[in-house]
Amino acid sequence: MVKRIFRISAANVFKIISFALLLASTAALTACDETQAVRLNQGGTSAAVFGSSCQDNSSDEICIGLKYVVYQDSEGNSVTDEAAARENLEGINRVWKQCGIAFQIEKYEVVDPSHEGLSFGGMRSQSQTDRIRKQYEDDSRFLIVTTGAWHAQKNAWTTPPGDAPYGAVMEGGISSGYSEIYAHELGHYLNLDHVTQGVSSNVMSTVIGHRSTELDHSQCREARATAKLFWAHMLRG
Ligand SMILES: [Zn+2]
Repeated sequence: MVKRIFRISAANVFKIISFALLLASTAALTACDETQAVRLNQGGTSAAVFGSSCQDNSSDEICIGLKYVVYQDSEGNSVTDEAAARENLEGINRVWKQCGIAFQIEKYEVVDPSHEGLSFGGMRSQSQTDRIRKQYEDDSRFLIVTTGAWHAQKNAWTTPPGDAPYGAVMEGGISSGYSEIYAHELGHYLNLDHVTQGVSSNVMSTVIGHRSTELDHSQCREARATAKLFWAHMLRG
């Protein structure tokens, strides 16, 4: 299944549409120092956390590791920066806190996609985004890749559980100031579908804005169950 997001206004409203099977299946908080890397111990390995860590938060909170990949062009210009990534993380976690779910960026990588024979931008198909997922996938973290501009209506594309390869692919234009879209895409990652038509306060609405930040009890239950059952190898703490 495929998710596409349409931003229909430069202001506060984004439209999100599911295609294809139209079944859409496709569903956090942090604390502590944003700049200082935190060392984690996970099964004998350690990883530095970029930004806030959720591993030491309350025991019933689900903490999920992220790999945050950012494209740069052939001249070395990145489509976004570390400050924007940290801001997105905070925005994502403000939304997901109500479900007792939090994310932490464990890997932040700036990559030149041309080294892998990948397009910088202009994503038009699932096969294109699947190539990105396959290239940068991580077997113990959710993947978020921010590419160059797509010059299309859609600007995000996430595969839900059961539809590998996995990963949320975002275009550079929404890399800063649109954390609700990142939170929405992670909702698809956690098996949440769209919930309503039109602008709504729910983050999984088909049209969302900066006030679309709510998740109800059933969504939280589904997201938490999906995290524990399907993504158990991505959880921390
Ligand atoms: Zn969506």
